[in-house]
Amino acid sequence: MIIHTTFDEVSLTGYKTVRCTGCGRRLKRQRKFWQTRNPYNKNSEGYPKSAYEIREELSQDIRVWEKESETCSKCEQIGVEDE
Ligand SMILES: [Zn+2]
Repeated sequence: MIIHTTFDEVSLTGYKTVRCTGCGRRLKRQRKFWQTRNPYNKNSEGYPKSAYEIREELSQDIRVWEKESETCSKCEQIGVEDE
């Protein structure tokens, strides 16, 4: 996990290696999760979220994403043809 912080954007990058749901090939995936710090991005108490709060939320999102199964592009194409 790499943490990037700029003035108004807080982002975390998630990495995972999962098996393709179709062919079982190992897939490496990377995704950037981010939120902008601004007066409208508020927490449950109605205050603008701090960078720390945003990072907490982003790491939750990454944990969910890490558990999601993935399908490689070849198997996705086969899936589309089947429909
Ligand atoms: Zn596949």
